[in-house]
Amino acid sequence: MRNVIIVGSGCAGNTAAIYTARAGLKPLVISGHEPGGQLSLTTEVENFPGFPEGILGPVLVENMKKQAERFGAEYMQGVVEESDLSRRPFRIKVDGEWLECRTLIIASGASARWLGLPSEQKLIGHGVSSCATCDGFFYKGKKIMVVGGGDSAMEEANFLTRFGEEVTIVHRRDEFRASKIMLDRCRANRRSSGSPAPSSRRSTTSRRATSQASSCAT
Ligand SMILES: Cc1cc2nc3c(=O)[nH]c(=O)nc-3n(C[C@H](O)[C@H](O)[C@H](O)COP(=O)(O)OP(=O)(O)OC[C@H]3O[C@@H](n4cnc5c(N)ncnc54)[C@H](O)[C@@H]3O)c2cc1C
Repeated sequence: MRNVIIVGSGCAGNTAAIYTARAGLKPLVISGHEPGGQLSLTTEVENFPGFPEGILGPVLVENMKKQAERFGAEYMQGVVEESDLSRRPFRIKVDGEWLECRTLIIASGASARWLGLPSEQKLIGHGVSSCATCDGFFYKGKKIMVVGGGDSAMEEANFLTRFGEEVTIVHRRDEFRASKIMLDRCRANRRSSGSPAPSSRRSTTSRRATSQASSCAT
């Protein structure tokens, strides 16, 4: 039986591994279908403290892993398929094998829902992104498209108007799925075309958010 099992090998899983390994708990990290997590998909990470020139995402997570291993963390390839957390010790099934642990740390993160276009994965970090706050800065002065009509799309689109010359929302339906408040923000942003946006911190006259279909109206 393990003291600690950590599900996920992204930044959160690796951080938990460093702390628990340093505490002498010999954690076992289950890497999952995406070893290194979402950062392993990206190129330059510019907002991680301590790297004034930025650092490549895969290098950053690999460093975290090495740091955890230095203190005794172990990594195992595999995906957690099932769990029994109704009693102690906790039990999880990894690729058909049941493991037991006293403490289970779930750091299974998230995955972007991609469109499935053939070129998409090749262009991640080169014009295609799944994270506005991470990558918006790289699209300063560019024309940006956001795909989706829900709250996340509105949030990302509004944020991107800080950088893009123009932000276009592309969505499938004739109405948006986003909540009213998010749409209202989007609409207010659109009205700012040619004039400063009241809700934005850095207004420019060329900034605007538009939509292909019904222009942020429900
Ligand atoms: C393209 C891109 C660029 C980004 N750029 C930046 C950036 O520049 N700066 C920034 O701050 N953030 C950036 N992010 C966001 C950042 O990557 C995430 O915030 C961060 O990775 C979240 O870390 P996490 O450990 O919580 O989860 P994740 O990185 O999502 O890791 C989840 C882990 O859980 C594992 N897992 C999931 N299910 C199972 C299971 N059933 N069994 C076992 N393991 C499982 C996965 O394999 C993975 O290892 C970017 C994200 C993307 C996609």
